[in-house]
Amino acid sequence: MNSIVVHYKELALKGKNRPWFVNLLVRNLREALAGTDVARVRSIMGRIEIELGPSAEWDEVRRRVSRVFGIANFSYAGRAPQDFQALASAILGDLGGRQADSFRVSARRSDKRFPFTSPQIEREVGGLIKEATHWRVDLDGPQLTIHVEMMPDHAFYFFGKEAGAGGLPTGTGGRVACLLSGGIDSPVAAYRLMRRGCTVLLIHFHSYPILSRASQEKVREIAALLTRHQLRTRLLLVPFGELQQQVLLAVTPELRVVVYRRLMLRIAEQLARKWRARALVTGDVIGQVASQTLENLATIGGATTMEVLRPLVGMDKDEITAEAGRIGTLTISNIPDQDCCQLFTPRHPATRAREDRVERAEEVLPIDAMVDAAAAAAVVEDFRFPVLEYAGSKNSIN
Ligand code: ATP
Ligand code: MG
Repeated sequence: MNSIVVHYKELALKGKNRPWFVNLLVRNLREALAGTDVARVRSIMGRIEIELGPSAEWDEVRRRVSRVFGIANFSYAGRAPQDFQALASAILGDLGGRQADSFRVSARRSDKRFPFTSPQIEREVGGLIKEATHWRVDLDGPQLTIHVEMMPDHAFYFFGKEAGAGGLPTGTGGRVACLLSGGIDSPVAAYRLMRRGCTVLLIHFHSYPILSRASQEKVREIAALLTRHQLRTRLLLVPFGELQQQVLLAVTPELRVVVYRRLMLRIAEQLARKWRARALVTGDVIGQVASQTLENLATIGGATTMEVLRPLVGMDKDEITAEAGRIGTLTISNIPDQDCCQLFTPRHPATRAREDRVERAEEVLPIDAMVDAAAAAAVVEDFRFPVLEYAGSKNSIN
């Protein structure tokens, strides 16, 4: 067996956009598999075939394919002639150590010119396998399902399906900018938008040198991890400590968190426009902390005219934590750091900061100049996956 058959969810891909989606998926797969021994990646009849070269390592290829968005499932597959006898013996030859009390053949006919129907293919191939193995045929609850897909000039066969990452191919959803803290929530928010086909620009605000560099190290690790999905990531590190000190001198303690957040959104908006992102993304959740009441979120969102997407808004903390665990960001988020927003803020910030009150508090600040200065000071770091040029670099997580 030296192919991988990749299935995408066809429903989402109907219509005239379909070739565009499929081409992007093929391109993303090629890029994600760079450096592995892959002979070719091509789209055939509603699926994608990855043809492996002799030295391809299945585990590595599987890991990489499993992170590519837009895939419903994929299978390590063999190719055989369309002839039943030849197909059955190829399957038997590749069973390896597989043992089963019961099995079934499940056939799909992509080439409708093939002169047999799917049930006929199942019966014929199933009969030959049964004869050779003496396994019982069970159509409803088989231990082993042998999949056969008839293509125009050959057949694919495979024994199981691995779940893909789902979602839509990276590049189909436009660009967004996610405000990424070192916390648990915002990496999950970024992941969710990536999974919908968006390219996510990451923006982190830090208070170095007032606080340590820990938060920057964390977001770099998160960026590298998420880059395994979207393959190219731009991370912007924005110094925020000086602005906070200005806020400290001018704004009453209970409004500071909301003012910090509004500044973040304004700076993020400017950076997003510069890098042609169409919306901002945050990890806000209604009621999770005092600053995230509906009223505060509205006041914070009022600082920008850009669309603010909050993909986690209705989730419970344990749901978000579980998802962060699955994505792999949780262990990074759990590393202790010093959150810039706890700097100079009271334990009990205002839970209902009305926008007019906050606007009045901001009047004494040179907001535009503060935003321009912070945006201009943003440091750009680019991440790529896979990292081929210099193995062992900091962004080559595997
Ligand atoms: P998270 O776990 O994402 O930090 P949180 O529950 O701690 O979220 P807050 O700290 O109130 O919530 O932050 C709300 C949102 O504001 C975050 O999800 C993130 O999108 C953004 N944000 C907060 N702090 C920063 C920061 N230092 N840099 C960039 N974005 C930030
Ligand atoms: Mg936080």
